[in-house]
Amino acid sequence: MSEEFAFQAEISQLMSLIINTFYSNKEIFLRELVSNSSDALDKIRYESLTDPSKLESGKDLYIRITPDRKNNILSIRDTGIGMTKADLVNNLGTIAKSGTKSFMEALSSGADISMIGQFGVGFYSAYLVADRVQVITKHNDDEQYIWESAAGGSFTITRDTVNEPLGRGTEMRLHLKEDQLEYLEEKRIKEIIKKHSEFIGYPIQLLVEKEVEKEVTDDEAEEVTEEDKDEDKAKIEEVEDEGEDKKKKTKKVKETTTETEELNKTKPIWTRNPDGITTEEYASFYKTLSNDWEEHLAVKHFSVEGQLEFCAVLFVPKRAPFDMFESKKKRNNIKLYVRRVFIMDDCEDLIPEWLSFVKGVVDSEDLPLNISRETLQQNKILKVIRKNLVKKCIEMFTEIAEDKENFNKFYESFAKNIKLGIHEDTQNRAKLADFLRYFSTKSGDEPTSLKDYVTRMPEKQKNIYYITGESKQVVENSPFLEVLKKKGFEVLYLVDPIDEYAVQQLREYDGKKLMSVTKEGLELEEDEEEKKQREEEEKSYEDLCKQMKEILGDRIEKVVVSNRIVASPCVLVTGQFGWSANMERIMKAQALRDTSMSSYMASKKTMELNPNHPIVQALKSKLDADKEDKTVKDLTYLLFETALLTSGFSLDDPTAFASRIHRMIKLGLSIDDLPEETAATSTDDAPALEDTEDSKMEEVD
Ligand code: ADP
Ligand code: MG
Repeated sequence: MSEEFAFQAEISQLMSLIINTFYSNKEIFLRELVSNSSDALDKIRYESLTDPSKLESGKDLYIRITPDRKNNILSIRDTGIGMTKADLVNNLGTIAKSGTKSFMEALSSGADISMIGQFGVGFYSAYLVADRVQVITKHNDDEQYIWESAAGGSFTITRDTVNEPLGRGTEMRLHLKEDQLEYLEEKRIKEIIKKHSEFIGYPIQLLVEKEVEKEVTDDEAEEVTEEDKDEDKAKIEEVEDEGEDKKKKTKKVKETTTETEELNKTKPIWTRNPDGITTEEYASFYKTLSNDWEEHLAVKHFSVEGQLEFCAVLFVPKRAPFDMFESKKKRNNIKLYVRRVFIMDDCEDLIPEWLSFVKGVVDSEDLPLNISRETLQQNKILKVIRKNLVKKCIEMFTEIAEDKENFNKFYESFAKNIKLGIHEDTQNRAKLADFLRYFSTKSGDEPTSLKDYVTRMPEKQKNIYYITGESKQVVENSPFLEVLKKKGFEVLYLVDPIDEYAVQQLREYDGKKLMSVTKEGLELEEDEEEKKQREEEEKSYEDLCKQMKEILGDRIEKVVVSNRIVASPCVLVTGQFGWSANMERIMKAQALRDTSMSSYMASKKTMELNPNHPIVQALKSKLDADKEDKTVKDLTYLLFETALLTSGFSLDDPTAFASRIHRMIKLGLSIDDLPEETAATSTDDAPALEDTEDSKMEEVD
């Protein structure tokens, strides 16, 4: 009895794409299926480490390719873990992975079908060459089943009562399309395996036909010929037995026998001497390991000896995987071996999260073979390995940085990881800071390193200055840069949200404090004269500051005279340890922000006035002339609100702001003969004037 299932819609769509897209490099299907077999073998081997009885259904772990030229079927079988009926339903058709859609999107924007493995849907590549696929499979916990589909939206699952028992494992039978019969040829299969799967850690056997010559008597020969007649396999040659005086005639018969030939006999690459390994070999190994279609960007092959012994090969890919920061995804980038035996590829404790883009293998001499996931967590050996891996990765990045072009590629793909590393890895923070690159007020088209920044610092500059914000365009015109530009102090543009987090942990570089130009406590190296001038200004603007604070109430902490602005009338700065305006923006954008935290961390703003700005000066004279001047109030609000905008905050009440601006426009256009009602309405719109100040304050806070 077969049961029929519908493919999940996206999978169905993907299959049509695979079947109908014109694509010549179809051979990659074999790489994908061999890689699935290898994964399945890994799984049973891992389970057998703690429960050897799991191998009672078959001890030999191998992959075997059998071309059936009579029926045009290519079969790939493995003695891996197999699939239960439920596995078949879930893994091969009814549950789409996130990669299904991502892969189709990638294809439509020009990606190559050979990238399929990276998106976790490699199985369906079988339909590049087959119009019908059967998956015969036996898992220890279930009966043997046949999954079958000729695409077209559905598949069937049947209890297998016709095929030979597999013992355990999976056999993929590809009923090849008529124009794809080349994949039955021995030579072609060998070539593909050599190219794509040479470094698979299990023997890949190919069933090959061998002709052997056998001498037989006439009668025997006839028998043989009779047997093989319809298969047309034996060729008979008559042989004259001249030297013999016996009259009995013998014949030489060429008989065809089959045997398996191992196609991947190379030693594991990590056990070999690095000097004898070519870049091509590393690339080939990397591709097998990672499902990547491109070569690696960098490789580090090393061994550690002494108290603890292990060797490892680590790779940096050319680009980030499509789902690098998808948190649910289990990471399996470093394969852990113990004395050449594969243990697992999802050991979380082997490498920190920020290095999750590094791929490779680690082979330990010291760990016990039957180690379980639980005991691994506390394992001291593993901790030491991890520390070494991090160290070697950093060395590898330093090597990448020696070539500018390569480093640019690296940074483009993995800058977020480096910043995450700075945030999380206290010990290596300082080293990682060397990899940071930022545009700045002096960088021009090429981002600068902190190291280069330091070399450009004028002698009297003590700190490293930065500004955070949404984008380069937004920050490069910020009023906060004014005085620093004037002084010749360079300011770095930190415009990646993760910069906010990283910089808070980094704090300093090369003994110099990292200082936000939008926060309080900005230390600008002042000379005596500048200091004297500022102190005088502070005195003469004391009243204005007090008055403005009274008007603005709780919206701000205080109003002070600024030494950081040149061309703007005022800015709003935030507390040294609270959120910057940019951080406030980031937190507002995060759906799950904790509101209690935000009221605690939310920026306490200080308004800084520019004593040299005509607006501020005029405001001061107005106040000096008439302590009760009402326009001071209105103008203060306007200044505050525009400062919110130029300082990177958002407006809580844009409508009120707009009304105030409209009133200014009316003034500018000399529209002063408004009817009573209209005037009243406009006051409602802009309630921040004297009469409604209290209610307005409640709204804002
Ligand atoms: P991926 O290998 O990235 O998981 P695939 O599309 O290649 O994606 O395979 C889908 C799933 O089908 C696998 O995760 C596995 O569960 C199952 N599968 C495929 N081939 C085999 C096999 N030979 N043995 C056991 N399970 C398999
Ligand atoms: Mg796969």
